[in-house]
Amino acid sequence: MDYRGKSREHLKAASEQLDFGSDSDLKYAALELRMAMEALTYDRALAFKEEFPIEEYDTWQPKKVMAVLLEIDPLTDKDSTIAYGLEEKYEVPAKEMKSLGTETVLNMVVLKKHYDALGSFLHIQTIKKTKAGKTVNYERMRKRCDEIRAYLNKVLSSPVFNSTFGVFSSIECTECGKKIRKRIPRGEDTIHVECPDCDASYKVSGSGANQALWEPLQQEIECANSECTRKIAVWEKEIRLGGNWKCPVCKGKNTFVLGVAYEKSLNK
Ligand SMILES: [Zn+2]
Ligand SMILES: [Zn+2]
Repeated sequence: MDYRGKSREHLKAASEQLDFGSDSDLKYAALELRMAMEALTYDRALAFKEEFPIEEYDTWQPKKVMAVLLEIDPLTDKDSTIAYGLEEKYEVPAKEMKSLGTETVLNMVVLKKHYDALGSFLHIQTIKKTKAGKTVNYERMRKRCDEIRAYLNKVLSSPVFNSTFGVFSSIECTECGKKIRKRIPRGEDTIHVECPDCDASYKVSGSGANQALWEPLQQEIECANSECTRKIAVWEKEIRLGGNWKCPVCKGKNTFVLGVAYEKSLNK
């Protein structure tokens, strides 16, 4: 499955349509660009074959695969340079490093943004827009297409691609059971991870040897009933105005509210 090659083919076709320079060809260019982006998405997914096995997504539409890649790789906007060299002494960096080139990593955030934006060009205008006398803004559409072409060119001409360095880790959310996958990029010690399905959040830190430590971001809070004071663990995201919980012991309801504290002035 040469999705990189497929992506190049679609990009080439898009380029031809763009170079014709006529407005009526723009939608074909947009379609080809979208397919180029879809091929790159599958290509990127294949790079995570151990953490995100192909059997899990082989029937999925690119958009759904994109969403998972966005969860895995929040910080792929950092380009990385890969270099190697001979160490003369163990653990002493080699004097001469040979560079394999700089990888322009596919930034899923950028890709998804462009992908969604192109979608609107591929449908006929909504009735509301037509009624309001709106017309298709071809100038904006061409600008967007040119931007995407330049970006895809950069990604596809990168000499090194699809490295997935960093510590990869996944857990089942302790609150809702959803599988959360994350990669701690090289050079980062800890990252903050939020469950996409519930209020849970975690601090994930690399602890060497491809191990990662997940710490739930929770606070212990007492029931405000002075005769009860049963402590429960509350997710940091739940601590917000109006957030509440039912005490499991006294069955009362506790709510986070705003308060005003007053202190008397010492000098009259
Ligand atoms: Zn969850
Ligand atoms: Zn209570």
